[in-house]
Amino acid sequence: MYTLIELPYEMGALAPVISAETLSFHHGKHLQAYVDNLNKLLPGSEYVGMALEEIVQKAPAGAVFNNAGQILNHELYFTQFKPASEAVQKPEGALAAQIEKQWDSVEAFKAEFEAKGVGLFGSGWVWLAADANGSLVITQEANAANPVQRGLKPLLTFDVWEHAYYLDYQNRRAAHLAALWQIVDWKVIAARYDG
Ligand code: MN
Repeated sequence: MYTLIELPYEMGALAPVISAETLSFHHGKHLQAYVDNLNKLLPGSEYVGMALEEIVQKAPAGAVFNNAGQILNHELYFTQFKPASEAVQKPEGALAAQIEKQWDSVEAFKAEFEAKGVGLFGSGWVWLAADANGSLVITQEANAANPVQRGLKPLLTFDVWEHAYYLDYQNRRAAHLAALWQIVDWKVIAARYDG
């Protein structure tokens, strides 16, 4: 059985970047539904007892993949944030050096990341991921997909499904993505890169 992760902050702690109302629906309704769906689908299947990463790598396109992928994606998404006053606001260490090596500056990296999130048609996720050599790549993944399917380690993600921003930003996806940097905790992203 999979269980809904607890958020490591209060529902209102990410406002005004993400309101308590959006967070409450996103975590308590959308993510809860993916957890409930997967728990209904798994009994008797070959996926019982597997980690989410393994299911996402092994399951063909379909309901098991979609629900496992969305749980994995949202767990990485929700746990990368902190209230703006507490978040480590800039990349540090080896991750910062690699970003500067590949993009020249953190600002240039952020601009490309936002553009790829804005440019993703329909529902999905934009990711920063690392290959086995530590090189970084920004990927656009449709619907429930995750860079682990490409053999990459997922580090940072922005959810571009409309449920992630519509209550707060309506159709203004670009404004939402630009605001999210305020609550990204680069300490978490660096730990994923180093781990
Ligand atoms: Mn979502």
